[in-house]
Amino acid sequence: MKKVSKRKTTKKTATRYIFVVGGVMSGVGKGIASSSIATLLQARGHRVTAMKIDPYINVDAGTMNPTEHGEVFVLKDGLETDQDMGNYERFLNIDLPAINYMTTGSVYQSVIQKERNLDYKGKNVEVVPDIPLEVIRRIKKAGEEANADVVQVEVGGTVGEYQNVLFLEAVRMMKTEEPGNVAVVMVSYLPVPGSIGEMKTKPTQTAVRMLNSAGVFADMIICRSPIGVDMKRKEKISKFCNVKLENVISGPDVDSIYDIPQHYEKENLPAQLSELLGLSTKKKTDLKEWSKFVKRSKSQIDPVKIAVVGKYFSSGDFVLSDVYLSVLEAIKFSSYKLGLKPEISYLSSLDFEDKKQLKKLKEYDGILVPGGFGKTGVEGKLNVIEYARKNKIPYFGICYGMQLAVLEFARNVAKIKDVSTEEIDAKADNLIIGIMPEQIENVADKKMGGTMRLGEYPAELRSGSVAAKAYRSREIVERHRHRYEVNPDFIEELEEKGLHFSGKSPDGRLMEIAELPTSEHPFFVGVQFHPELTARPLDPHPIFTSFIKASYES
Ligand code: GLN
Repeated sequence: MKKVSKRKTTKKTATRYIFVVGGVMSGVGKGIASSSIATLLQARGHRVTAMKIDPYINVDAGTMNPTEHGEVFVLKDGLETDQDMGNYERFLNIDLPAINYMTTGSVYQSVIQKERNLDYKGKNVEVVPDIPLEVIRRIKKAGEEANADVVQVEVGGTVGEYQNVLFLEAVRMMKTEEPGNVAVVMVSYLPVPGSIGEMKTKPTQTAVRMLNSAGVFADMIICRSPIGVDMKRKEKISKFCNVKLENVISGPDVDSIYDIPQHYEKENLPAQLSELLGLSTKKKTDLKEWSKFVKRSKSQIDPVKIAVVGKYFSSGDFVLSDVYLSVLEAIKFSSYKLGLKPEISYLSSLDFEDKKQLKKLKEYDGILVPGGFGKTGVEGKLNVIEYARKNKIPYFGICYGMQLAVLEFARNVAKIKDVSTEEIDAKADNLIIGIMPEQIENVADKKMGGTMRLGEYPAELRSGSVAAKAYRSREIVERHRHRYEVNPDFIEELEEKGLHFSGKSPDGRLMEIAELPTSEHPFFVGVQFHPELTARPLDPHPIFTSFIKASYES
């Protein structure tokens, strides 16, 4: 009888999970550490996806004031998330789905909804284990959806905080269930107090003990500090925190966040993590493209000066540039691509309510007004836009920055009387920017969470326009986040006066791009969407590149 040989089926190896938790204090760069680890594993040929857990009760980040929480980063499918999701997308150069972001609020909401739907079949629903089980369900689903070899999960907050205990419980449960597939990385902080002049390890030891009391043990500790960690302190941490010496990683402050993957590679982090997770340790980390980008970002000397005029910059004595993080990064990526050194100034729109201040803008090559909401600083932004238009300084308006450019044009060029945006003066005779019809009920019923026009939508571009030339395409897809739109009743009049709506939704109803022709202005473009959200270090955004190019050349 002929022997039938069995066909070999290639079994997918188990998905590995890396949890990044924070010790000692917040703000030490856990998100960047997570992004860098994920980048390194991706560079070793693994399929990686990245998740963030935020401990807030807010169901998503959309309702948080940016001065409290930084930028709201909108995913492709419309979820409003934390800025760390933006870092993951930028570092990994991939789009991430909504399942990859969760908050305490969203987890409780699902559990309560399931209970209402009788999905628990009459049993008692309890905080433990049902909340951690929902967290685990989402983590595994994210892994499956991405068909990932490695799922990187950042647990927001700091160990020892009451709020992330249930997430640590999820980590503990997963590690108990499949110990070989789960690694825990603690990103800690080692202060060097000025009065002592010595790096102290005690806060990290205490943080590790706190983590242990939740039943979770760190496999690796990244020691964030102003300077590198010496061998003596590495040994101390290894001994007192139960972590192998090779798994104590030095994480000093660096010039740029994009240096960190290379730095961790030098510390042998990816090979060590691979060993912990039973991944091949023979693979090489291929950082060729990444290193090229980092090198390019540091070798530019020819400056391009860009003013970003927003309302959220000042907070007491501090300047909060995080609020517009993706915009700033997008400017940088396009500048590097063009061989330029971006010099970005953060200017408060409130200062420009006094027109005498406008001459400060003379020194800039380009002006950008990013997204925003409400009345504060609007008159200042309108003054800035008028100045940029009249003085032929390249202008790029994003979302609110586009709506206000249309309003400025309506007021000062088309000379429409008593004109405003419904968002700030609903009683004005001429609402050049009006509420979108589908938003009227949401606002009237105070349904404000997750109800804006969110996520990806397609647009069609007018051939020969500044926009079409920038994109080198007539069909685009971009991410949105807004409730108001250019009022269609005014389109004809504005077009006649010379403002071109060069990008529209495919049904022609929504104005997605407004621009002045190049015969009138070197670059005056407003976009209703947020191109900054998809600008990547290895793939800069074409419309930003056009803006920077025009700024440099004009
Ligand atoms: N406030 C405006 C709107 O809701 C613009 C929003 C934004 O800039 N993201 O339409």
